[in-house]
Amino acid sequence: MRFQRVKGTRDILPLEALARRELEQLVFSRLSRSGFQPIHTPTFEKFELYQRSTGESSDIVIKEMYRFQDMGGRDLALRPEGTPSVMRAILENHIKLPVRLWYSMSMFRQDKPQKGRYREHTQIGAEIVGEAEPEADAELIKLGFDLFSEIGIDGMYMELNSIGCRECRPTYQVKLVNFLKKHSSEMCEECRVRMERNPLRVFDCKVASCQDILKSAPSQRDHLCKECKEHFDKVKKGISAFNIPYQENDRLVRGLDYYSRTVIEFKSTSLGAQDAVCGGGRYDYLAEEMGGPHIPGTGFAFGVERALLASKGEGIFTYEQPTIALLILPLGSDATSFALDLVFKLRKAGLEALVEFRSGGLSRMLKRAASRNARKVLIVGEDEMASGVFILRDMKSGEQRELSFEELIESQDADSS
Ligand SMILES: [Zn+2]
Ligand SMILES: [Zn+2]
Repeated sequence: MRFQRVKGTRDILPLEALARRELEQLVFSRLSRSGFQPIHTPTFEKFELYQRSTGESSDIVIKEMYRFQDMGGRDLALRPEGTPSVMRAILENHIKLPVRLWYSMSMFRQDKPQKGRYREHTQIGAEIVGEAEPEADAELIKLGFDLFSEIGIDGMYMELNSIGCRECRPTYQVKLVNFLKKHSSEMCEECRVRMERNPLRVFDCKVASCQDILKSAPSQRDHLCKECKEHFDKVKKGISAFNIPYQENDRLVRGLDYYSRTVIEFKSTSLGAQDAVCGGGRYDYLAEEMGGPHIPGTGFAFGVERALLASKGEGIFTYEQPTIALLILPLGSDATSFALDLVFKLRKAGLEALVEFRSGGLSRMLKRAASRNARKVLIVGEDEMASGVFILRDMKSGEQRELSFEELIESQDADSS
């Protein structure tokens, strides 16, 4: 075949696409109740937006962003994550604060394709913008936790950390850098770059020898200022009141510069090594880094593909081969136009129905109907058109009965309820 998918992309076939719909419906219903409104932002933005927000030192910008020039020579990028463009939309459209927004959008990252990770993937995110209070973090965490439980992700727990603020982070960073310098020769090359650019990110390193050294590194949590400590304590108090299982992890940082204070990660013991389901936290400096005023915010985002993978087999979402509820079999060309008219009347009455266009003898048409997964067929021949009484056949049992248009609507109604 001449054309194939671009590496790292995937087709979402009907079975999975339907399950995704159901997942989105569930999220939409739960978040709507909690005051969240949907938002969509453009798939591409100015590269500079992500450069300024996601940060020069982040791996996403350096290695993984789809950056391109359009025909007008503009420097653009495909959206690598949702929060910066949502914040840009808030600032640009003067959206009244506080506001709660949620999205389900494609994200693009040009990283090495690996199992369950694609260069285009869908993320669902929820953001509470304009609220600095720790209660907003606690509420958001509770919302996420309930959502993942409902989605059917087993073994959920949460990791929590505070990475401080502009007041206390610099002091900590000096201590961290001093520590790292002492061990510089033992650390990997990437960590030595991070040391210079964004020392906090060394905690993201997967190299075992680096991890060993970092075990004795100073902890941000021991260096929080009074305000950050109070904020963190209140977040914890809120989560405990909801009985959400969590662990404090002082090595949990986020790879994005604009995060502050609360950092969260939802994990599941059922996902193996790649156990993170969802990440999030507070981004009180994002708006300022984008040239706007100080606007605090907190949010989370999770990958739809991973969530579906984790919930598969739980029976929350249906993965059934699609069927045709009612297939009309017209016998003869006059009957076909009659059937087409009839099918729209049935649909208008709320029924799901299709017409078989290929003609043939009844027995061949029945065979075709079976291979098309029709649950019921309606036989329309000359006699039926004249009398207005049709033959309805159940494809599974083979049982047949005669009924009028009105009776048909009633009977199908009863079937679908
Ligand atoms: Zn602080
Ligand atoms: Zn390293």
